[in-house]
Amino acid sequence: MPTFGAHAFIWVGDWTRETGGEAIAAAARSGVDVIEIPMLRPDEFDAALTRKQLDDAGLKAICSLVLPREAHMPAHPDLARDFLRRAVDQVAAIDAGFLGGVLYAHLGHLTGAAPTDAERATCAETLRDVAAYASDRDITLGLEPVNRYETYLYNTIGDTLELIDQIDAANVTIHADTYHMNIEEPGFTAPIEAAADRLGCIHCSESDRGVPGQGNVHWDDVFRGLSSIGYRGPLVLESFAAINPDLAGATCMWRTPTYTSDQLAQEGVAFLRARAAAAGMP
Ligand code: MN
Repeated sequence: MPTFGAHAFIWVGDWTRETGGEAIAAAARSGVDVIEIPMLRPDEFDAALTRKQLDDAGLKAICSLVLPREAHMPAHPDLARDFLRRAVDQVAAIDAGFLGGVLYAHLGHLTGAAPTDAERATCAETLRDVAAYASDRDITLGLEPVNRYETYLYNTIGDTLELIDQIDAANVTIHADTYHMNIEEPGFTAPIEAAADRLGCIHCSESDRGVPGQGNVHWDDVFRGLSSIGYRGPLVLESFAAINPDLAGATCMWRTPTYTSDQLAQEGVAFLRARAAAAGMP
């Protein structure tokens, strides 16, 4: 079977010494193998404490981030590169091995125009630098395409595969997300098959970011694709039951969920496990 994970924002709105510990305990309680840690403020991250909390809970971690406002990559590549290097250092310090998310943009930063060739070239060059730095620390990067309302740069798996070809580094993968795919892709199976062995991680998010199986995502098609490419990476339930104000603003999450964090995690992960088994995922 692949590994099953849950994003910390299901339970907490930020990652501090206290809330990080709460999220790790909650993730362990929900029966997942992996917790996804938001590495939004690498300079404040307590790696030694997190590592001990993970070991005590018997959990593995992966990390993800979006770039801060002042480090939107096409506009400020040097700041973006330095920020990502500091994040990579912290990912290495907890031995997480994977840094995904929107590594190329500040979420919600729109220019009102399509991406230019120069903007995309800047992203490719900067990410090539970061990939080399990450590779020296045995870390794989995952680039997450997100929908048009959150970025203008990379909206589809096809766009992002082109970026990965331009970066040309073995440790750069696609970080897919079914919530964004539901908006931007013509279906689920073909884009997953196009990513094939370059798929490093997938966020399993429902169309309303609620409990998987209760919305409009075509989960049979998702798992058909994952099964056909022999996917072995993490299946991570991403939702924002306890979201921080910055991310609420960027993702326009205005309504209070009708479920608790534990309900979301337990029902969601049970659904994903059942679908993976039904799809014959080894
Ligand atoms: Mn996502």
